[in-house]
Amino acid sequence: MYVGRFAPSPTGPLHFGSLVAAVASFCEAKTKQGKWLVRMEDLDKPREIKGAADTILHQLEAFGFEWDDTVAYQSQRSALYADALNQLNHKQLIYPCTCTRKEVADSSTAFGIDGRIYPKTCLYHPIKSDTAIAWRIKTDNSAVSFHDDIQQLIQQNIGQDVGDFILKRADGLFAYQLAVVVDDAVQGITHIVRGADLLDSTPRQIYLQQQLGFSTPQYAHVPVAANANGEKLSKQTLAKPIDTATTSQLLYDALCFLGQQPPSSSKNAPLNTLWQWALEHWAISTIPQTKQIIIAS
Ligand code: GLU
Ligand code: ZN
Repeated sequence: MYVGRFAPSPTGPLHFGSLVAAVASFCEAKTKQGKWLVRMEDLDKPREIKGAADTILHQLEAFGFEWDDTVAYQSQRSALYADALNQLNHKQLIYPCTCTRKEVADSSTAFGIDGRIYPKTCLYHPIKSDTAIAWRIKTDNSAVSFHDDIQQLIQQNIGQDVGDFILKRADGLFAYQLAVVVDDAVQGITHIVRGADLLDSTPRQIYLQQQLGFSTPQYAHVPVAANANGEKLSKQTLAKPIDTATTSQLLYDALCFLGQQPPSSSKNAPLNTLWQWALEHWAISTIPQTKQIIIAS
């Protein structure tokens, strides 16, 4: 059984980059006779844009996407994340941390792929009282590796490359890394197709799956669309929201971006015709093995 998913964050409307991830995960699931779920990653309420979740679902509908099952909202699933955190606590794999960002900056000497490596201060010294607590997971220097269906062999040493990372923030929010791992496991996700901007996060997620006794899904990281400055298309880089009036053209562009070769005559074909072509000809093997592709804006 194949269960795939698309997991947008409602920090703005869909843009071309997120459409690409939706198309890839959908085509891969449907050509494997699988289910395709949509999960709204709305944990980070401070970063959420009001109405964006509904806008995204309407955009997906306008493109003709159909999802199996009801949409899951991370904001309603905190109990699941708390359970997982408790489980890790019972296994003595996590510890509270009261360091401020400045204290970490002043005490850390090593940089990893995601900023400074936390020097484990609170693991070895008493934490401050009356200070909000974040929870970190202990990491060591063993390697995590996996075979990605597009990017091939990926290897990371979590201890050296990332360090003891946060699972619950001092402001009480569960971290993306924990929530995504719990949700993928609880929802029975077997295959994850998403943007290569998350490739660096995958070893952390596999590490968490191992500590929580979850199985590891198969991963495929598609290239992300970047602008001429090499910046990933995102709300921050002012990517244009996709225009649902030109769905066929955009679906055509997304398929080309993914290395598929729809006949140019299909550019203006009805959306259904293009979807039919896509599902008949979809080949994950023709997606370029690269992390980003620059597109003209
Ligand atoms: N919510 C994440 C994003 O929009 C995607 C998470 C994932 O696919 O694992 O970047
Ligand atoms: Zn600390």
